[in-house]
Amino acid sequence: MPRIQNLRIGHATNSSSSHSIVMMRPGHQAPPSNYSGGDFGWDNFILSDVRSKMHYVAVDTRGRYATREDFDAEFAPYLDQATLDSVWKENDYIDHESAGTSSSVDRDLLLRPEVVILGGNDNEDRFTLPNADPAPSGPMRQRQDGAASVLYWPSSGFKIRLSDEPYTKARAPELVDVKITDYCPYGCFFCYQGSTKQGAHASLESVIETAERLRELGVFEVAIGGGEPMMHPQFPEIVEAFHSRGITPNVTAYGVEWSTRDWVKDTVRKLGGIGVSVHNAADFEKLIRIRDNLSSRRVYTGRLMPQHAVGTNDITEVVHAARTGRYTDNLLLLGFKNVARGSSGPKMKVTDDELYNAIAGPFDGKGWYPLTLSVDTAFLDQFPNVIERLNVPGYLTSSPEGKFSMYIDLVRGVMGPSSYCAEEDYLPLDLAHITEAFARW
Ligand code: SF4
Repeated sequence: MPRIQNLRIGHATNSSSSHSIVMMRPGHQAPPSNYSGGDFGWDNFILSDVRSKMHYVAVDTRGRYATREDFDAEFAPYLDQATLDSVWKENDYIDHESAGTSSSVDRDLLLRPEVVILGGNDNEDRFTLPNADPAPSGPMRQRQDGAASVLYWPSSGFKIRLSDEPYTKARAPELVDVKITDYCPYGCFFCYQGSTKQGAHASLESVIETAERLRELGVFEVAIGGGEPMMHPQFPEIVEAFHSRGITPNVTAYGVEWSTRDWVKDTVRKLGGIGVSVHNAADFEKLIRIRDNLSSRRVYTGRLMPQHAVGTNDITEVVHAARTGRYTDNLLLLGFKNVARGSSGPKMKVTDDELYNAIAGPFDGKGWYPLTLSVDTAFLDQFPNVIERLNVPGYLTSSPEGKFSMYIDLVRGVMGPSSYCAEEDYLPLDLAHITEAFARW
């Protein structure tokens, strides 16, 4: 399953703490800088060129420099002598509500031309920048692939591919879908993995060996799947195998029982996203139960992502349950996979109109609730017209499978471009030759 792709709703605005860092959407240029002197207070300002942004950084981080020499070494390449003097003497100013803003974003990213620092205050009309989204914050991993640079933020899953040339195929996968078990007690009629109560678990050794190889290849994240992966008896050790190698482990499960286990406190914090399968509207109640279970154990619950395979139940009911806002503010829609028990096809034929109306049509609930919608590659392939009608820009979509992601089934010992590819596309798992196999897909 590919990493989540967001459909953002609305424009980026400055936050109540006045200043924010935003990133222009592809195809949109940042406006020119507009600010006066070194006063970064309540008045609106725009900082888009390197000099103005470094002026802001200098004011924001002035207190960290013990000597003028250290300060000049950092900022003299960007600022003239008068500005350096002014900042060092603390004549310049950042509103205390926004102190530290510049440190929330990686410096290389901050200095890119499409990244803008916005200032203003919430006492007046909100200062917005059309065609911009909040820039990702926190520690970043970067991977160079020929002329392309890929930036990835583990804490949010935000990923940006930067390249002057079209970048349509990675040298090595960014994301690997890793099946760790074929065990599952739920017996869904559409299960494209064909998982059962007799299904086997992958060995921990095979997981550790795979995690080490994926680390060498620079893989950013894995989607741990099954079966019911959290019923693997060594699930905490499996999460640790990826986490300790700097690879974000994401996981998807159907059950709720895992959220009561002793290991959740230590293991959930190491996970990126936690997908919760919702087969029908009533299944959304599971989100509340999982949240309650985790909250009572003082575990952060903000990374739960309900996901639904289109065609397995009434899509209007499912999307409307999400749109009430009672259970969630996000939803991942998956395309139906005609594989294994899913080979008899979807239970319900879903038309483009039906799907579009469920997602974007008038809402008969208690009012509009903003919902972040994500889709997988199979959905993109099955509903291109809906994606077009929703005006999703091309840079938010990534298809087909096998270009930036791949699949490893550690139960069967095979690898392929996706978890639902044709049987003839699978190859015996050969960790030493992943890149050669990946190059073929
Ligand atoms: S679809 Fe998911 S929950 Fe259902 S049987 Fe398959 S693995 Fe289990």
